[in-house]
Amino acid sequence: MTRRVRLDGANRRVRLGQHFLVDPYVVDEIVQLAQPRAGERFVEIGPGRGALTGPLLDAGAIVDAVEIDAALVRQLRQRWPAKELTVHLEDALEFDYACVAPADLRLIGNLPYYLSTPLLFRLLERPGVFRDITVMLQREVAERLCAQPGSRRYGRLTVMAALRCRAEWRLSVGPDAFRPRPKVESAVVRLIPDSDARIEAPKSFERLVRQAFSQRRKTIANALRPMASKEHIQAAGIDPSLRPEQIAVADYARLAERLRRSLGQGARTVSG
Ligand code: SAM
Repeated sequence: MTRRVRLDGANRRVRLGQHFLVDPYVVDEIVQLAQPRAGERFVEIGPGRGALTGPLLDAGAIVDAVEIDAALVRQLRQRWPAKELTVHLEDALEFDYACVAPADLRLIGNLPYYLSTPLLFRLLERPGVFRDITVMLQREVAERLCAQPGSRRYGRLTVMAALRCRAEWRLSVGPDAFRPRPKVESAVVRLIPDSDARIEAPKSFERLVRQAFSQRRKTIANALRPMASKEHIQAAGIDPSLRPEQIAVADYARLAERLRRSLGQGARTVSG
């Protein structure tokens, strides 16, 4: 069910992460990164007062904007009544992106901080819908997306994104670019879904990665004890004494596949 939000000004700003972009240089950089062309279809998450929406429409793009704040939706519809802009009064976490277009959709947004991690997990469930994703995030989330194995930020989000996308760090943005100023730094990341990224049982993979990073201080053998034996881990070419953050996405994929096959041969079958 869609959450409709009616709050007064200050509460609305805080609850919905309303830090509006006011730096024209940053707006321009983000639009340059996305390179909108006439007739291309974009979904914009959290259009707010339209800092990114305007330049997208100026470039001739067709925009479906998803905004949860009814007052902002009203303003956007009044400002751009054009048929090229459809504003959906909806929660981006629940929005059905495939209903805009089943594939080749371009996604853009200056995401509210509270929403970015759950939303990224949601978008990563259906990477085939998107041609590319250009998002402003809290710097720490951007670091997690772009982290390398062995680094402190490498975790579940990194692995789930790396399975399906190439993540590119494109721009660092300071608090002065927004009003009101947020307390944290931001960054723009581009995610390019990888059409070759195929995995037989994505849900099993996700369960494995979730389990591994639920105990990231332990060795991978100990962290995965409820799901995988040391022998399984070794057979997938992984040193069981490594920590979860030292293991590359391809190794997790190989282990998930091995577990799926060995369970499939046993009494239980794990699917999807
Ligand atoms: N794009 C605008 C800009 O750059 O100035 C606004 C960005 S502001 C950081 C985030 C926007 O997301 C706000 O307009 C806020 O109301 C909206 N928002 C917050 N939670 C949302 C949700 N669950 N679904 C859709 N929009 C949401």
